[in-house]
Amino acid sequence: MIDLHTHTCESDGTLTPDQLIRAAVELGLEALGICDHDTFAGYDQAAPRAQAAGLELVCGIELSTKLRRKPQSRGKSVHVLGYFLEGPPASEFRTWLEQLQRSRRDRNVRMTARLAELGLEVKLEEVEALGRSLAGRPHFARILLRKGYVSNLQEAFDLYLGESGKAYVEREEPGLAEGIRRVLEAGGLPSLAHPLRLGKHTREAMDKLVAEMRDMGLKGIEVYHSDHGPGEVDQFLSVARHCGLAVTGGTDFHGENKPNIALGTGANGNLAIPRSVLDELLAARAWRELRPQAGQMTHRRDAEVAEEAERNSASSAPLR
Ligand code: AMP
Ligand code: FE
Ligand code: FE
Ligand code: ZN
Repeated sequence: MIDLHTHTCESDGTLTPDQLIRAAVELGLEALGICDHDTFAGYDQAAPRAQAAGLELVCGIELSTKLRRKPQSRGKSVHVLGYFLEGPPASEFRTWLEQLQRSRRDRNVRMTARLAELGLEVKLEEVEALGRSLAGRPHFARILLRKGYVSNLQEAFDLYLGESGKAYVEREEPGLAEGIRRVLEAGGLPSLAHPLRLGKHTREAMDKLVAEMRDMGLKGIEVYHSDHGPGEVDQFLSVARHCGLAVTGGTDFHGENKPNIALGTGANGNLAIPRSVLDELLAARAWRELRPQAGQMTHRRDAEVAEEAERNSASSAPLR
């Protein structure tokens, strides 16, 4: 069993990188992916600990982007995962993340002011103390709960922080195409996170939407996710095949910030992602030319990998 989508307390999870590694080892995970929002701080701390513990750790990121299909629209919020399977992300990418973090801080300042107007006293320092590398709305939610302004975290979003909440303020977010491009340029494999959150679509409309993203350079789709029931897993597996995308999967574990989601096993044990998902991702890079690296691989090696991928895909039973 593997889990390729988890968060540490460096973004909006609650476990420290060290605690997360220990939890993964205790659970017997065969591989763990850390995909904090906009930061590698959690992965960076976890890497030596994972190595010491003999746990395979995958370097990932989760980016919040906006997809504007019509010029005047507010845009749909789309999360993109980036998986750095071949080596660490290029340093320009880290610099770009710092810009994103500044735009978050700016949003947080405005959100604090908006909450104050509504009579809710939340200090930026309190939020940032919880959020470490990346303070976001889930941290605002925890403070609102702690101060008794709401009775649970979801209520904090419903009343104040969600897109229709009274204290919602827009944040400058990169476009989806830019997010995808940045991940590709940094040497990563961009995958569409929790596709169910794209909303209700007919199958045809979903194929069309995801194909648009593929044409922007998207290489994968998160077929396995805690949000997905068995029918949805099958549906997104079929979308992946239709659009020629690789399959990724993870629980989106956030510790106590999403207490109903367990590491590795998801919501009420709805996930058990086989190791073969990661193996196929590794093979898929060469097989589908997910990231052609002219000159960096010999032809022989290319051919070997392609053959192996072909054998795997021919023999692979349905993934679930
Ligand atoms: P941020 O990146 O700071 O804007 O926060 C986004 C995070 O807040 C998402 O990843 C979710 O975990 C959470 N979130 C956003 N909207 C909602 C909502 N309506 N209900 C519950 N959680 C939400
Ligand atoms: Fe999150
Ligand atoms: Fe997300
Ligand atoms: Zn996530």
